[in-house]
Amino acid sequence: MAEEILFNRTLDLAPGIVDAIAPGVRRVLVNNPGPFTFKGTLSYIVGRGKVAIIDPGPADAAHTAALLDAVRGETVTHIIITHTHRDHSPGAAALKAATGAPTFGEGPHRAARELFIGETARLDAGGDLEFVPDHRILHGDVIEGDGWELEAIATPGHTANHMAFALKGTGLLFSGDHVMGWSTSIVAPPDGSMSDYMASLHRLAVRSETVYLPGHGDVIRDAPAFVAKYIAHRHGREASILHRLGKGETDIPNLVRAIYIGLDPRLTGAAALSTLAHLEDLTVRGLVATDGAPSISGRYRLPP
Ligand SMILES: [Zn+2]
Repeated sequence: MAEEILFNRTLDLAPGIVDAIAPGVRRVLVNNPGPFTFKGTLSYIVGRGKVAIIDPGPADAAHTAALLDAVRGETVTHIIITHTHRDHSPGAAALKAATGAPTFGEGPHRAARELFIGETARLDAGGDLEFVPDHRILHGDVIEGDGWELEAIATPGHTANHMAFALKGTGLLFSGDHVMGWSTSIVAPPDGSMSDYMASLHRLAVRSETVYLPGHGDVIRDAPAFVAKYIAHRHGREASILHRLGKGETDIPNLVRAIYIGLDPRLTGAAALSTLAHLEDLTVRGLVATDGAPSISGRYRLPP
């Protein structure tokens, strides 16, 4: 059995409302609820007077207007992107046009590995292929604003270009979609990579921040314990896959049926890709065998 995580499936916030969630941090919810976004994407405003906006959200005129309303009388000096999914980064264009603020991000959307035939369509399904940051940031870079400093922490896995940001001196960390309080993160090849994802979880596990502000869902308190649960959950899922393969060769649809009990039918495709992500990782580690490169339609077995 996968390790159970105590998820917080409440978020007492209406779209467009400005919510002062922590000292020097406000959040605004996008009106884009759904099976992948929970109540919606959260944009964060950091600082007072001269502010950064983290994750301006989708191309949504009402949300951009809500953000501009929220910072009326203030200056937006930075637009910062955790990753290039369509619910996070496309709003940067309208916000930049309205404020003149430059954009910051790890880089344009890209796959975590080489694409196989037929995967191009899947790559751009959720990806924002338009966004190109004005300033590319690297792991360890510090983005300095007026009264705040954000340390960039490379956290690839959910996407190849995912970044988390620690608000220095506060114990707060903006975790994007890498760690979320309402659900596990989706790791779907070819955008996502499970090997990278696990390494990124371990990267956060040794840090000192205790409170995470995620891209979806409410604040995560006692974040180190939560990250440990996330890691244990993935190990549990791995064990379930290996256990099932121990009974004989099989394919991804059968693995999903055996492992994801009570799955929301709308998430079947995501579960299949997440299983593929685990199988890619297990194959690289020599724990699972398949013919050729791991693929969504492949057959999997324990190595001889
Ligand atoms: Zn998201």
